[in-house]
Amino acid sequence: MNLTAPDRIANYIAGSLQAPLNGKYIDNINPATGEVYSQIPDSDAQDVDEAVGAAKIAFESWGRTPAEERFRILNRIAELIDENLDALALAESNDNGKPLWLSKRVDIPRASSNFRFFATGAMHFSTESHNMEDKAINYTLRQPIGVVGCISPWNLPLYLFTWKIAPALAAGNCVVAKPSEVTPMTGYLLSLICKKAGLPDGVLNIVHGTGPNCGAAIVAHPGIKALSFTGSTRAGREIAATAGPMFKKVSLELGGKNPNIIFADCDWDKMMRVTLQSSFSNQGQICLCGSRVLVEESIYEKFKAEFVARAAKLTVGDPLEESSKQGAVVSKMHFDKVMSCIELAKQESGKLLLGGNSVQLEGRCKNGYFIQPTIFEGLGPNCRTNMEEIFGPVVTLQSFKTEEEALQLANTSDYGLSATIWTQDVSRAHRVAAQVHSGIIWVNCWLLRDLRTPFGGFKNSGVGREGGWDAMRFFTEPKNVCIEL
Ligand code: NAD
Repeated sequence: MNLTAPDRIANYIAGSLQAPLNGKYIDNINPATGEVYSQIPDSDAQDVDEAVGAAKIAFESWGRTPAEERFRILNRIAELIDENLDALALAESNDNGKPLWLSKRVDIPRASSNFRFFATGAMHFSTESHNMEDKAINYTLRQPIGVVGCISPWNLPLYLFTWKIAPALAAGNCVVAKPSEVTPMTGYLLSLICKKAGLPDGVLNIVHGTGPNCGAAIVAHPGIKALSFTGSTRAGREIAATAGPMFKKVSLELGGKNPNIIFADCDWDKMMRVTLQSSFSNQGQICLCGSRVLVEESIYEKFKAEFVARAAKLTVGDPLEESSKQGAVVSKMHFDKVMSCIELAKQESGKLLLGGNSVQLEGRCKNGYFIQPTIFEGLGPNCRTNMEEIFGPVVTLQSFKTEEEALQLANTSDYGLSATIWTQDVSRAHRVAAQVHSGIIWVNCWLLRDLRTPFGGFKNSGVGREGGWDAMRFFTEPKNVCIEL
């Protein structure tokens, strides 16, 4: 299979590649070069309606397709993603600005493991039975919902897109999905892969376009009964407002402002190496990045010196170069937002320890959107810089004296997505993990993923978190059957 990025991408509806019905397109810009490199359908409610119609028809047979057959097709999609690793990674890097090596080593392999995991899920999915002694037996039928919507963001394009689509399909639903308009190419290439894998027409429909024109139409469509959304808290709020009165089932994976809590007794070398990654991987554009680094006072100065020195060596460069540790941020709009957050941190009297500027590269990337890894200290926990999500290569350092103070700082946030704890004291690790108000806690590690575990955040970071088979359960309607004996 030869996957190449076309100049103009198409929607994938009812198994065919088609232009948007309104004939409108938007530009797809490579953020590393600042140049338009393809066109994306600017789809609207008409295309979404067509996609829902196709999905409804396909559901009649996909909902009854034997689990073994669903397994076979979804597993074939996983294999084809693996076989096309290089093409998919290049498409993602060109869309997103992230280093090509990162796409190859993390994003694309995780996308194929999403399909592989939920393919086997189709085979192992089971439901409950409850016995009322000699009175009755209840059993739960978990039937697919029908047509569901999946909407994903730009930061981990194929990885997050497939994390929604694969469990929905495995559970027997048909899907209308929309990748981010900022990073559409891997979603488009996935439609070619699905065709090749033999996924029946209409089972997955991929409609491209903006949030207001296309995403909102998916959310509001009465034929779509459940929605899985990953993106900003702002959009999540809008989606909840539309979906609530329509009684749709909704899973919202939203923003974060994650604490990275470092105690003096940590494994220093590992903590330092992983903290650099958790602060700056993908230019800080991972919802799970630790953007608030909280350090025990006794090691604060030592930490600061080494962290700043090592962050200063992270090469910002062309994403296609293996030596580039940092690529471009995703768009001009996001570049402007991150730079304005840096200005805000200065106005809030933050002391700039590193970076704070854009980076001007030469050659192919001379018009790209690059920002230095940036570190501030001296900002209180309640200032906007420490409360609002920046989603860029910007972290703040704060010190704490006691475990209690660390918890107070960690929990001073309206977000509650993830947290990282560094300590060798096993009791403290358990104690702190239980008290941090976040949905995902890593102890002495970061970004390890086990698809069997629940994923998602507390507070403004979302609702409806589920993991493993539960991610498939989200896409089912449980029905209790009670039989009197
Ligand atoms: P975004 O909310 O702007 O867009 C996400 C997706 O939703 C895009 O496909 C967009 O077109 C669509 N969209 C936007 N407004 C919509 C609306 N009103 N109705 C329907 N669809 C709409 O987010 P983004 O800028 O693409 O992504 C960055 C955000 O995503 C950050 O806040 C980040 O923390 C969050 N994120 C969260 C997780 C998580 O697992 N919790 C993972 C990755 C990213």
